[in-house]
Amino acid sequence: MQDVPLLISRILTHGSRIHGTSQVVTWTGEGEPHRRSYAEIGTRAAQLAHALRDDLGVRDDDRVATLMWNNAEHVEAYFAIPSMGAVLHTLNLRLPAEQLAWIVNHAADRVIIANGSLLPLLAPLLPHLKTVEHVVVTGPGDRSLLADAHAQVHEYEELLAGKPDAYEWPELDERSAAAMCYTSGTTGDPKGVVYSHRSIYLHSMQVNMAQSMGLTDQDTSLVVVPQFHVNAWGLPHATFMTGVNLLMPDRFLQPAPLAEMIETVRPTHAAAVPTIWQGLLGELTARPRDVSSLTQVTIGGSACPPSLMEAFDKLGMRVCHAWGMTETSPLGTVARPPAHAVGTDEEFGYRLTQGRFPAGVEARLTGPGGERLPWDGESAGELEVRGPWIAGAYYNGPDGEPLRPADKFSEDGWLKTGDVGTISPDGFLTLTDRAKDVIKSGGEWISSVELENALMSHPDVAEAAVVAVPDDKWGERPLATVVLKEGATADFAALRTFLAEEGHIAKWQLPERWTLIEAVPKTSVGKFDKKVIRKQYAEGALD
Ligand code: ADP
Repeated sequence: MQDVPLLISRILTHGSRIHGTSQVVTWTGEGEPHRRSYAEIGTRAAQLAHALRDDLGVRDDDRVATLMWNNAEHVEAYFAIPSMGAVLHTLNLRLPAEQLAWIVNHAADRVIIANGSLLPLLAPLLPHLKTVEHVVVTGPGDRSLLADAHAQVHEYEELLAGKPDAYEWPELDERSAAAMCYTSGTTGDPKGVVYSHRSIYLHSMQVNMAQSMGLTDQDTSLVVVPQFHVNAWGLPHATFMTGVNLLMPDRFLQPAPLAEMIETVRPTHAAAVPTIWQGLLGELTARPRDVSSLTQVTIGGSACPPSLMEAFDKLGMRVCHAWGMTETSPLGTVARPPAHAVGTDEEFGYRLTQGRFPAGVEARLTGPGGERLPWDGESAGELEVRGPWIAGAYYNGPDGEPLRPADKFSEDGWLKTGDVGTISPDGFLTLTDRAKDVIKSGGEWISSVELENALMSHPDVAEAAVVAVPDDKWGERPLATVVLKEGATADFAALRTFLAEEGHIAKWQLPERWTLIEAVPKTSVGKFDKKVIRKQYAEGALD
């Protein structure tokens, strides 16, 4: 067989030629959304690559960062930077400033392409970014904020204007770096995950399979999951293989504009973390809209509460639950029920699992003593995975070598996910918790996720997060923090009874500590931030 390297430039060339009329639609917040065809994206990616090489001097594997929302220009950067041989580094714009600066310096980014609307974030950061020589600005925003910048400032459109509309993409080694993304550093310094051309190519093919997202050029996908969060779950790459139209929300991520863009642009598919869907559900309940086009919703990033799945099913939006991590590109499992369960009472249960491993992701469960556990649907242990789109190390440790911490990689090279769960004989993963969130009460484990899901199925509860807190007698006990819906009256005694009776939670697992909060604190990618809750409790702020 021919040995043709699996390169991002091939995905771009294919998409812009074979699916040239497919579109990237960017929401602008006013008037008509902005539309750009795949053919135009191809041309502009070539122009951007010329500008980066000829005007800004980007060479070899220089890192080019993006500080951008989901939009057409970000898609152009996604393709231009790796295709020319440089490395795309997507910056998480919701991280605290010091962490962002640490990440840019660690990656040694030479260029940052930024949306104008994010200059208030970038400008104060710039003096701390040691390696950044150029800032390229695109879209509306106050440029005067960069007046004192030590880096050279460029206008994106001016750089592209007049550049050749084709670029001779180099034949790179498919194992070379294409993109990088840092984990959000919930413990210790953030860690960089580097994706290769090959890993992205293979991952994109998996995303496109019918048992994963299975979209075609008849679809339009609303990509709410940020492009700075694990390559927007691989969607921009995968869609350029198949011609799926992209609907990009830019900075309009609040429930009301999301509902409006669904009604107006009529996407068939959407992808986001549960908190976004929870917000949208509230909006659609308060102000119903025509969302009938949206029939497939991919939910991942944290466990999908059953109540959310049911509510979306009722609206005609079929939820497909998936599990993954920054380290897994992210597609790890997808919960498509097996044929024998479709249409039976078992189907919903299968859909609530984290899903089945695709070819390409091998899995094993490891018990506390390092022993391998069986796939019997009952033995719970830490999930370890390996495969061609799973990280084998983090980028540059202190000595400049790849970083393989023992708590993240096994001696034989598998990724330790830090997620605890079971696997059924037919390969369905059910996560009970993150290792660091599980509640260890008197030698037994209580799943915080199980308690949260049961609580969130109560009609009065908007959100609930359960964390372990120290307990003299039991070591740890659950603390339930609850956000009630507007006007709701349920008290803690009633919620406890509900957990026992409707949630079938064993008596010894029922929380005795409860507190009402206004909102569950969220991480930079919209997940429950239990670290903050634990800290608030320790400081006495939740009594
Ligand atoms: P962070 O660690 O900052 O949250 P990631 O986005 O890489 O960054 O998160 C990966 C983690 O998110 C997984 O290890 C897992 O704990 C959690 N996760 C992802 N998808 C799911 C899911 N469907 N159900 C439960 N947990 C999930």
